Amino acid sequence: LEDYQSGVPRWCSGCGDNAVLAAVQRLCRDENLRPEKLAFVSGIGCASRFPHYMRTYGFHGIHGRALPIAEGVKMARPDLHVFVNTGDGDCCSIGAAHWLHAIRYNMNMTVVLHDNHVYGLTKMQVSPTSPKGLRSNTTPHGSYLDALNPLTVTLGVTNVSFVAQAVDWIPEVVHAVIQAAFHHKGFSFVRIIQRCPEFLPKMWEPWLHDPQKTLLLEHQDGIGYSAGLQKIYKNRQAHDPADIHKAREIASCIDPIPVGILYRDDSVPCYEDIREAGKPRPIEMVRSGLEAELDKFTVWPDAADAGAPTP
Ligand code: SF4
Ligand code: MG
Repeated sequence: LEDYQSGVPRWCSGCGDNAVLAAVQRLCRDENLRPEKLAFVSGIGCASRFPHYMRTYGFHGIHGRALPIAEGVKMARPDLHVFVNTGDGDCCSIGAAHWLHAIRYNMNMTVVLHDNHVYGLTKMQVSPTSPKGLRSNTTPHGSYLDALNPLTVTLGVTNVSFVAQAVDWIPEVVHAVIQAAFHHKGFSFVRIIQRCPEFLPKMWEPWLHDPQKTLLLEHQDGIGYSAGLQKIYKNRQAHDPADIHKAREIASCIDPIPVGILYRDDSVPCYEDIREAGKPRPIEMVRSGLEAELDKFTVWPDAADAGAPTP
């Protein structure tokens, strides 16, 4: 309650969550979105404080369950645009089963994965996206496993319809991909590589200082980048977001790290539309239809003529 009333983010100074908040608030301003037409849903983690700072409808949910809650909101209020803010632990660990099926259902919502590669709220434990060898409170000798890649996982699920990536230190791209995700009809998955200066202060330093370590994906009919940005980031590549094989190939890169829209398919139907089209008829219609069918075949004996008891 205190968080909601103050409206001042409680994230650490320099935390990448602030960049995502700024991009989303700019989107709301640019698109003139009415607060009563938006719902922000989150699970548990640092990023999950997000709904408190939006002054729209919001649901700060339970760990790993942001997506099913968001689906419920969408089913009950299809007129709302639903945003989900989830972390790498929230989405890719405890919430992984929900994540896969939410992609398959392809409901119309914008999902932002704040991937800081660690559990920050609980003071540094490895998450599924932590790099191999990371020393943490749960892995004092370094983590043994290779990191899970949320982009390749999403791109491997049936009905995937939108996948994009941005890094929190390039605000223009964060805003551009979230805006494109907002306009895509379907489950729009945006992974933000997010810095956690509290627990992983040096992790992205090389990428911050060398623009060659970032790959700007250029799209013929997708997002455009400003001249200023293109002047700094000269490592650019024309990319067709309809090519899922290329998207999967690019998604595996970390050096340089690709930013922009990796994949988009506007033809995948949304679950809410399929459901609406296939909705069973109300019971009265079923009954009257059934009676009409029965009338064709049933000849009720005339009780008076036959002298028989009334059926
Ligand atoms: Fe951000 Fe890390 Fe602080 Fe959490 S712990 S608010 S992720 S900097
Ligand atoms: Mg995290």
